[in-house]
Amino acid sequence: MNRHVGYGFSAPISAAIDILPESLRHHMTDVHIVTGCDPVFIGLHAYRYSSDGRSYKHIAHVVYPYHQLTLPKHLRHPTIVLPTMRSICDILHEMGHIVHFWYGLDIIVPAIDDDYARINHHEAFAVAFQHWVLSSNDPMLDEYIKHLFESLLIRSR
Ligand SMILES: [Zn+2]
Repeated sequence: MNRHVGYGFSAPISAAIDILPESLRHHMTDVHIVTGCDPVFIGLHAYRYSSDGRSYKHIAHVVYPYHQLTLPKHLRHPTIVLPTMRSICDILHEMGHIVHFWYGLDIIVPAIDDDYARINHHEAFAVAFQHWVLSSNDPMLDEYIKHLFESLLIRSR
Protein backbone atom coordinates (compact mmCIF):
# COMPACT_ATOMS: atom_id res chain seq x y z
CA MET A 1 0.00 0.00 0.00
CA ASN A 2 1.46 3.34 -0.98
CA ARG A 3 0.45 6.63 0.46
CA HIS A 4 -2.70 8.08 -1.10
CA VAL A 5 -3.18 11.68 -0.14
CA GLY A 6 -5.58 13.79 -2.15
CA TYR A 7 -4.59 17.41 -2.53
CA GLY A 8 -7.65 18.51 -0.59
CA PHE A 9 -6.52 16.52 2.42
CA SER A 10 -2.91 17.63 2.46
CA ALA A 11 -3.52 20.97 4.24
CA PRO A 12 -5.11 19.59 7.45
CA ILE A 13 -2.71 16.61 7.48
CA SER A 14 0.31 18.94 7.15
CA ALA A 15 -1.11 21.23 9.83
CA ALA A 16 -1.53 18.27 12.20
CA ILE A 17 2.03 17.07 11.53
CA ASP A 18 3.35 20.60 12.08
CA ILE A 19 1.97 20.85 15.61
CA LEU A 20 3.34 17.47 16.71
CA PRO A 21 6.35 17.53 19.03
CA GLU A 22 9.47 17.61 16.88
CA SER A 23 10.66 14.13 17.87
CA LEU A 24 7.42 12.60 16.52
CA ARG A 25 7.07 14.80 13.45
CA HIS A 26 9.56 13.09 11.18
CA HIS A 27 8.26 9.62 12.13
CA MET A 28 4.68 10.69 11.37
CA THR A 29 5.74 12.01 7.95
CA ASP A 30 6.40 8.39 6.95
CA VAL A 31 3.06 7.01 8.09
CA HIS A 32 0.75 5.74 5.39
CA ILE A 33 -2.41 7.80 4.99
CA VAL A 34 -5.30 6.81 2.75
CA THR A 35 -7.79 9.56 1.95
CA GLY A 36 -11.06 10.06 0.13
CA CYS A 37 -11.96 6.46 -0.60
CA ASP A 38 -13.45 3.27 0.79
CA PRO A 39 -10.58 1.29 2.39
CA VAL A 40 -12.36 -2.02 1.75
CA PHE A 41 -12.84 -1.19 -1.94
CA ILE A 42 -9.12 -0.45 -2.40
CA GLY A 43 -8.17 -3.68 -0.58
CA LEU A 44 -6.57 -2.22 2.54
CA HIS A 45 -8.68 -4.38 4.84
CA ALA A 46 -11.88 -6.43 4.76
CA TYR A 47 -13.77 -5.08 7.78
CA ARG A 48 -16.94 -3.34 6.60
CA TYR A 49 -18.32 -2.18 9.95
CA SER A 50 -16.88 -1.05 13.26
CA SER A 51 -17.89 -2.83 16.46
CA ASP A 52 -20.55 -0.15 17.01
CA GLY A 53 -22.02 -0.67 13.54
CA ARG A 54 -20.59 2.30 11.65
CA SER A 55 -19.36 1.75 8.09
CA TYR A 56 -15.60 2.04 7.59
CA LYS A 57 -16.48 3.71 4.28
CA HIS A 58 -17.27 6.84 6.25
CA ILE A 59 -15.32 6.91 9.52
CA ALA A 60 -11.77 8.00 10.18
CA HIS A 61 -9.79 5.09 11.59
CA VAL A 62 -6.40 3.45 11.87
CA VAL A 63 -5.62 0.04 10.41
CA TYR A 64 -2.80 -1.93 12.01
CA PRO A 65 -0.75 -4.42 9.98
CA TYR A 66 -2.47 -7.38 11.65
CA HIS A 67 -5.79 -6.15 10.24
CA GLN A 68 -4.48 -6.04 6.66
CA LEU A 69 -4.95 -9.71 5.93
CA THR A 70 -5.86 -9.06 2.30
CA LEU A 71 -2.38 -7.65 1.63
CA PRO A 72 0.93 -9.48 1.35
CA LYS A 73 2.96 -9.06 4.56
CA HIS A 74 5.54 -6.70 3.05
CA LEU A 75 2.78 -4.22 2.13
CA ARG A 76 1.22 -4.05 5.61
CA HIS A 77 1.89 -0.81 7.50
CA PRO A 78 0.01 1.06 10.21
CA THR A 79 -2.24 3.30 8.13
CA ILE A 80 -4.50 6.26 8.85
CA VAL A 81 -7.72 6.14 6.82
CA LEU A 82 -9.64 9.38 6.24
CA PRO A 83 -12.54 8.52 3.90
CA THR A 84 -13.84 12.08 4.25
CA MET A 85 -12.25 15.40 5.16
CA ARG A 86 -11.58 15.71 8.88
CA SER A 87 -10.47 18.44 11.25
CA ILE A 88 -6.92 18.81 12.50
CA CYS A 89 -8.15 17.59 15.92
CA ASP A 90 -9.57 14.41 14.39
CA ILE A 91 -6.35 13.79 12.46
CA LEU A 92 -4.32 14.23 15.67
CA HIS A 93 -6.61 11.66 17.28
CA GLU A 94 -5.82 9.11 14.55
CA MET A 95 -2.12 9.95 14.89
CA GLY A 96 -2.55 9.14 18.59
CA HIS A 97 -3.54 5.60 17.62
CA ILE A 98 -0.37 5.37 15.50
CA VAL A 99 1.78 6.58 18.43
CA HIS A 100 0.05 4.01 20.66
CA PHE A 101 0.94 1.29 18.13
CA TRP A 102 4.58 2.42 17.98
CA TYR A 103 5.03 2.30 21.76
CA GLY A 104 2.87 -0.70 22.48
CA LEU A 105 -0.89 -1.14 22.37
CA ASP A 106 -0.65 -2.66 25.84
CA ILE A 107 0.11 0.78 27.31
CA ILE A 108 -2.94 1.79 29.29
CA VAL A 109 -3.74 5.36 30.24
CA PRO A 110 -6.67 6.31 32.46
CA ALA A 111 -9.57 7.73 30.42
CA ILE A 112 -9.89 11.48 30.72
CA ASP A 113 -13.35 12.95 31.30
CA ASP A 114 -14.62 12.35 27.77
CA ASP A 115 -17.23 9.86 26.51
CA TYR A 116 -15.10 8.71 23.61
CA ALA A 117 -12.08 8.12 25.86
CA ARG A 118 -14.17 5.77 27.98
CA ILE A 119 -14.91 3.38 25.06
CA ASN A 120 -11.69 1.38 25.53
CA HIS A 121 -8.00 1.87 26.29
CA HIS A 122 -7.19 2.52 22.62
CA GLU A 123 -9.57 5.48 22.52
CA ALA A 124 -8.40 6.61 25.96
CA PHE A 125 -4.83 6.84 24.63
CA ALA A 126 -5.81 8.59 21.37
CA VAL A 127 -8.07 11.14 23.07
CA ALA A 128 -5.43 11.91 25.71
CA PHE A 129 -2.76 12.25 23.01
CA GLN A 130 -4.94 14.60 20.98
CA HIS A 131 -5.51 16.83 24.04
CA TRP A 132 -1.84 16.72 25.03
CA VAL A 133 -0.58 17.76 21.58
CA LEU A 134 -3.00 20.68 21.48
CA SER A 135 -2.05 21.80 24.99
CA SER A 136 0.37 19.93 27.24
CA ASN A 137 -1.13 21.89 30.15
CA ASP A 138 -4.70 20.84 29.36
CA PRO A 139 -6.35 20.57 32.79
CA MET A 140 -8.12 17.37 31.70
CA LEU A 141 -4.74 15.58 31.60
CA ASP A 142 -3.41 14.25 34.86
CA GLU A 143 0.27 14.19 35.77
CA TYR A 144 0.58 10.48 35.00
CA ILE A 145 -0.49 10.99 31.38
CA LYS A 146 1.76 14.03 30.93
CA HIS A 147 4.77 12.14 32.28
CA LEU A 148 3.96 9.13 30.12
CA PHE A 149 3.81 11.16 26.91
CA GLU A 150 6.96 13.08 27.82
CA SER A 151 8.81 9.81 28.47
CA LEU A 152 7.62 8.39 25.14
CA LEU A 153 9.03 11.44 23.38
CA ILE A 154 12.41 10.89 25.03
CA ARG A 155 12.37 7.27 23.84
CA SER A 156 11.57 8.35 20.26
CA ARG A 157 14.62 10.61 19.85
ZN1 LIG B 1 -10.05 6.59 17.88
